[in-house]
Amino acid sequence: MLLASALETELTAPNGTRWTQPLGLFIDNEFVTIPGEGDITTVNPYTEEDICSVSAAGPAGVDRAVAAARRALSDPSWKQLSGTERGHLMTRLAALVEDNLDTLAAIETLDNGKPLSVSRSWDVPHFSEVLRYYAGFADKNPGQVVDVGPSKMAYTLKQPVGVCAQIIPWNYPLAMAAWKLGPALCCGNTVVLKLAEQTPLSMLYVARLIREAGFPPGVVNVINGSGAVAGAALASHDDVNKVAFTGSTATGKQVMRMAAGNLKAITLETGGKSPLVVFDDADMDQAVRWAHEGVMANQGQVCTATSRLLVQDGVYDDFVARFKAYTARTSVLGDPFDEATYQGPQVSDAQRRRVQSYIASARDSGVAVFQPEAGAVPWRGFFVPPTVFADVDASSSVFREEIFGPCATVSRFGSEEEALAVCNASRYGLAGAVFTRDLARAHRMARDMEAGMVWVNSSNDSDVRVPFGGVKESGLGRELGEEGLRGYYNVKAVHVNLTG
Ligand code: ADP
Repeated sequence: MLLASALETELTAPNGTRWTQPLGLFIDNEFVTIPGEGDITTVNPYTEEDICSVSAAGPAGVDRAVAAARRALSDPSWKQLSGTERGHLMTRLAALVEDNLDTLAAIETLDNGKPLSVSRSWDVPHFSEVLRYYAGFADKNPGQVVDVGPSKMAYTLKQPVGVCAQIIPWNYPLAMAAWKLGPALCCGNTVVLKLAEQTPLSMLYVARLIREAGFPPGVVNVINGSGAVAGAALASHDDVNKVAFTGSTATGKQVMRMAAGNLKAITLETGGKSPLVVFDDADMDQAVRWAHEGVMANQGQVCTATSRLLVQDGVYDDFVARFKAYTARTSVLGDPFDEATYQGPQVSDAQRRRVQSYIASARDSGVAVFQPEAGAVPWRGFFVPPTVFADVDASSSVFREEIFGPCATVSRFGSEEEALAVCNASRYGLAGAVFTRDLARAHRMARDMEAGMVWVNSSNDSDVRVPFGGVKESGLGRELGEEGLRGYYNVKAVHVNLTG
């Protein structure tokens, strides 16, 4: 065992915020390390310097976390709680996260590179919002009595699925954890949450608050670890009943294969290449503003990014000129701790290189590449300037593949039918947006786009009360809203004989 002092370290953010950072695996309400399983260093994407090293779970750590979750599932301290009492614990956690807003926002920005203004105004408050929303459902999710005639009675019970492995990505560490913890805890499950190795710090801090909120040991276990080791061990673990995954489509497919071993329940939220369609009659200011936000926010690291802009012939040139000018004005690159910054660095050097390789391949194949901020990229940090690929052909890789960076393709179309055909000619089906003043056309497009979510005259709205998820290779199942509960309970049917 490492010394207890290695389980935490003192950190200070550039804005002066100081905190004690947990570094271990959070299992059974304790931070622990497993001898021989090593650690992973997390890097500040703005300074490119190491922040600290965090314990990484290997197979033994995963086994221990799953065993803790299994014990907790049937322990009376959790199993015997009413939904109302579970809801109270969740509400308490939401309040504790709110009390720690400054610290958690600083951690999220330090570890992920997203602007502090965004971490403060969205990521941290959203965690509490999601927990509260699902706390409200905890005692409002009853089964049914089914009328089967006078001599029998039948009813259903909604029961926890069991031990849930939850694997989250690095683009929204707190938010993605909340989307998974909220419905799981609401329904009485226990959890092993695997953090993304690039951004483990905020949820390890929250783990301490989970204990403080009064959750019994083992109900929520939080582990860092590499995807190939800890993620794979969880997805294939025989004592896990469900796996919920958010990440790339390629990894999602692997997770699905691994989950097949013991027929785990599964929800997947994977990649996208979502279209945003601008018709001639659209409000051009709105279209430009949302097109920018829809692909440039969060450094373009958003699965629902509307990264394929399809613009009708009549307004194409005007749109492209305005979109470039708006991007040049709005996408201010800089220190994520600086209030003026709109776009921070990409999360890691690997991500930066990946995005840059798409830009290079587009250039090589003759695509027009526009980078308004190219002259203002900070001298350090994993930055990629906002990039607009104009007049892009539907066969090019930047049009078809998810880049996961601040990169938009713009292509022209003639008719509504043509636009719809291009929208749907994708293996992905996460989201889509349509800009038009024609009400009937807006609803036709919303109905016919092959997507889990459609925005009309907007992009990337997300609301805890509204289901989120994709079709085709963008995912299986839904998160958020009442729909988000479905993946976290089993329905048991009980038949009662009433004859004497
Ligand atoms: P990215 O390539 O953007 O990091 P991934 O889909 O690989 O996206 O990662 C999302 C999450 O999935 C992370 O927590 C990562 O550790 C995990 N992961 C990666 N590979 C695997 C795998 N083979 N099995 C299970 N989880 C994995």
